[in-house]
Amino acid sequence: MKVCKECGAVQQDERIFCIDCGEKLDEPISESEEEKITEEISQTISEQYEKNDPLGVDISMKIAACLNVAAAIFSLIVFLISNNQIQSLIWFSFICYAFSFTDALFPEFVWILTKFRDFFRYDNFDDLQPSFLYCKIRRIGVWVSIAFGLSITILCLI
Ligand SMILES: [Zn+2]
Repeated sequence: MKVCKECGAVQQDERIFCIDCGEKLDEPISESEEEKITEEISQTISEQYEKNDPLGVDISMKIAACLNVAAAIFSLIVFLISNNQIQSLIWFSFICYAFSFTDALFPEFVWILTKFRDFFRYDNFDDLQPSFLYCKIRRIGVWVSIAFGLSITILCLI
C-alpha cells in the first residue's frame, strides 16, 4: 500500500503516480502503518453506514407505529358495531395495520421476508443488502398502509 504525500489518497503498490492528483508516489508504507490506515478506513465506512442507517427506526417510524395502534383501536370499535358483511371487509384494515406496524418497528424482519423472492436468483443470497429504493419505498409503504387501512374502515362507516 502506498499513500500519496500530496493528497493523502491510498494507492496500490504497483502505481508510480497518484491516480487522484498525479503526484509521484514514494515507497510502500510499512505493514504496521498499513494496518492502522486500514482500520481507520473501515471505521469511517461503518460510521457512515450507521449514519445513513438504511433500515432505521427513527422518530417518524415510531409515530407511524403509534398511529397504527390508534387506527387499529378505531377499526376494532367499528368492527364491533358492524354487521357480518362489513366485518369481513374490516379484516383488510387489520392486515394493513399489522404490515405497517411490523415494517415500521421491525424493518429487518420484513427485509428478510422480502429478499426471499430473490432466493433462486442469487448465489450470495445472504449478502443481499436493501437498495436505496427499497429503503425509500419501505417508509412510504408504512404510511400508505395506514392510510389504506383507515380508508377501508371509514368507507365501511358511510
Ligand atoms: Zn495524490
